[in-house]
Amino acid sequence: MNYNAKDNMSLDHLLTTKDWADYFNSLSRTINFEFEIYNDNNERIFITDEHLLCKFIKSANLESITCPDSCNKGMINLLKKNEPQIYKCRASVVNFAFPVERFGEKAVIVGRGGFAEYDDLLDFIKFARANSLTKIPASMPLSFTGMDYISSVSQYVCLTVSHLLNSMEEKFKLEEKLVRMTALFDSQTFGTLSKNPELMYRYIMDTIEFVFGSTSASLMLLDESNFSYKTVYSTGEHRDLTMDFSLDTESPIIYEMLNSKAAVLSEEPEKIISSHPLQNIKSAYFFPIFMGGAIEGMIGIFDKQFSGEDMRIMNAFKDYIQLNLENQHLRTSINNAKEVDNQTNSLVDFSYSLNNIRDKDRLLNTLLEKALQMLEAEQGSLMLMDPDTSELIVEARRCYDDTVHEKMRLKADEGIAGQVLGNGGPLLVSDIEEDPRIKQVSRPRYKTKSFISVPIKLENKLSGVINISDKIKGHAFNDDDLNVVQSIISSAAVAIERSLLYKRAEVLQKLSITDHLTGIYNRRYLNRRLSEEITRYNRYKHPFSFMMLDMDKFKEYNDTYGHIPGDNLIRELAGVLDKSLRTIDIAARFGGDEFVAIFPQTSKIDAIQITNRVKEKIDDALGQHNVDTPLSISMGLATFPDDANSIMELIEKTDQALYLAKKAGGNRVVYL
Ligand code: GH3
Ligand code: MG
Repeated sequence: MNYNAKDNMSLDHLLTTKDWADYFNSLSRTINFEFEIYNDNNERIFITDEHLLCKFIKSANLESITCPDSCNKGMINLLKKNEPQIYKCRASVVNFAFPVERFGEKAVIVGRGGFAEYDDLLDFIKFARANSLTKIPASMPLSFTGMDYISSVSQYVCLTVSHLLNSMEEKFKLEEKLVRMTALFDSQTFGTLSKNPELMYRYIMDTIEFVFGSTSASLMLLDESNFSYKTVYSTGEHRDLTMDFSLDTESPIIYEMLNSKAAVLSEEPEKIISSHPLQNIKSAYFFPIFMGGAIEGMIGIFDKQFSGEDMRIMNAFKDYIQLNLENQHLRTSINNAKEVDNQTNSLVDFSYSLNNIRDKDRLLNTLLEKALQMLEAEQGSLMLMDPDTSELIVEARRCYDDTVHEKMRLKADEGIAGQVLGNGGPLLVSDIEEDPRIKQVSRPRYKTKSFISVPIKLENKLSGVINISDKIKGHAFNDDDLNVVQSIISSAAVAIERSLLYKRAEVLQKLSITDHLTGIYNRRYLNRRLSEEITRYNRYKHPFSFMMLDMDKFKEYNDTYGHIPGDNLIRELAGVLDKSLRTIDIAARFGGDEFVAIFPQTSKIDAIQITNRVKEKIDDALGQHNVDTPLSISMGLATFPDDANSIMELIEKTDQALYLAKKAGGNRVVYL
C-alpha cells in the first residue's frame, strides 16, 4: 500500500484539505470576511473569495497600497508576538490574524473585511477621495460593525479553528495507526504463524505494543475443561502479575461482553479476576474475540488511558483478529469437509456466528457503495477473478447503462481492469482522453473524464479490481480519493476472503447433500432427515411414512440402450418424482435405480394415496418412451411407528415391502 499517513501529518497538508476549504468558504459567505492562510515561509496557501472592499481597492492599482502585502505587515509583526491581533489596513479595512501551531510548524490565519468603527468608515471615504476612487459600487457594504463584533468574530474563528485542527489531527493519527496496524498485522503472516500458537499470540500482542506503545496486556483464551479464560500470553510492566490471570466464564463481565459485543472497562479488576493480589493494577479493559457467537478469548489491557479513537482502533483490531481466526477455521474445515458430514454442518453453524456481512454479494455491493459514497462518485464496478478460468467477473456494479452487467465475464488481460491487474498497481486518471496509459480502443464510457482503478489483493494474490468513475460534481479524482479507495479495499480484504470462503463452504455443503447425477438429495441427507423426523415424532407424536421405489428391469434397459440413455432415464425419473410430491415431502436418490421419499406427518392411509398418485404420474412419463419392453416401477411403503421403532428398522421394512412388490411381478405398490 503506498498510502503514507505520515506525509499527511503536516500543518500545510491539514490546512489545504477540502474539508478545510469548505469550512472557510462557508464561514466567509456567512460573516462576510475574506480569509487567507499563510504558512511558516509566509507563503499564502489558501484564500477564499475576496472581500468586495479589498477587490475595489485592488482594482485601482494604487502605488501607495498593494493588497494584500500592505495589510500583511501587521501580520508579520504578529508572527513575532505569537498572539492574536486586530489591526487596520491603510484603507482602514479591519483585519484580524492569529497564529496556529501543530507538529512544530506554524501558520497564520487572516480574516479581513468591513469597518470596525464609524471613524474607519469615514477614513475609508477620505482615502478613496484622496486616491480618486470616486465610483464606489452601490453593492459595497459601507457600514461599520463595532469593535466588539470584530473581536468576538476573531475569537470565534480562533476557537473553532483550533477545535477543527484537533479533530483533524486525531483523524490523521487514527489513520496512521490503522495503516500501521494493517501493515504490521497482515493475514499472510497470521496464517503462517497460526501453526505455532505461541508465536501467533506474541504476534497479536506485539502489534498492539507497536501501535499503542508499551502496554501491559494479556491474551486470554477459553479453557473449556476449567470453564474459564486463561492467560496464554502476557506482556508489559505487569507481566508477572497478569501471567496468572484467569476469568470465570460465568463472570458478570463476560455477560456484559456477550450483550454489548464490545470492550468492557473494569475499574476494580481485583473483584473479577482470580489471581494474586492486584493492588498494582487500577483498571482493565477487556476486548472480546468472538467465534460462532461465543467468546473465544479476550485481550486485556491494563492501566491504559484510551482515547475514543484508540478504542475504535482496538475494536477494529480485535475484529481483524476475529476475521483472521475465523478464516483460519474455515480453511481447515473446508480442507476436511470433503467427506465428513459433521464438519460441513459446522461450516453452516459458522454462518450464524458473527454480525458482520458474510454474504459475498451483499458484502461486495456494500463495499462498492461505500467507496462511491466516500468519493462522491456515481458509477463504479467491482470485479473478482474466477480462479478456474482466470476471467474477471463483475460482482457488483452501479452504472447508468448496461455496458457492464452483473456476472459479466472479462478476459483478465482486457480493458482497464486487465491493465490494472497486469501492472499490479492502482490507476488514477485525470483525463481519459489525454492519458497516454489508456488505449483508445478499450476506453470505457464515463460521463466525466476522470476515474480510479484499484487492484484487489486477497491472500496476497491479485484477485480483482474496483473501478470508480464520474465525480458527482464533475471534477477529477485526486490522490486523496485514491488513498480512500485503497484503505477501504485493504481493510476489507479479509472480509472479502471470508465471504468467498463462506461461498465455497456453502457450495461444498450443498454438494455434500445432493446427488451428482440427478441434483435431488442423496442418502446422507436422507439419513439426517429421518433422524429429525424421529425426534419430531418423539415430541409431537405425529406418525410419518417412508417410501422406496425401484425401476423394474433397469439392467435390461441399460444393456439395450446403453449407459447414457440409462443415466437420462434415472434423471427423468428423479425429476418426475420430485415434482409429484407435496412441498413438505422429501425425495432422495438411494443409489442406482432406487429412490426414496419421506412423507412427514403422514399416516399410512394418506401415504398410500400419495404413493399411488406418484406412481400414476411416473407411469405416465415412462409411458411416453418408445421401447420394446414397457418401463415400470415398483414401490414399497412403511409407516413410523406403526411398522418400525428405529431408522434402520423402518428402512428394512420398506425394503421388504419393495421386495414383495418385485416378487409379485413388479409394477405395483406394496405396503406393510
Ligand atoms: P429389478 O427389476 O429387480 O429391479 O432389476 P433391475 O434390472 O432394475 O436391476 P437392479 O435394480 O437390481 O439394479 C439396478 C441396475 O441399475 C444396476 C446397474 O446396472 C444400473 N445402474 C445403477 N446405477 C446406475 C447409473 O447411475 N446409471 C446407469 N445408467 N445405470 C445404473
Ligand atoms: Mg431395479
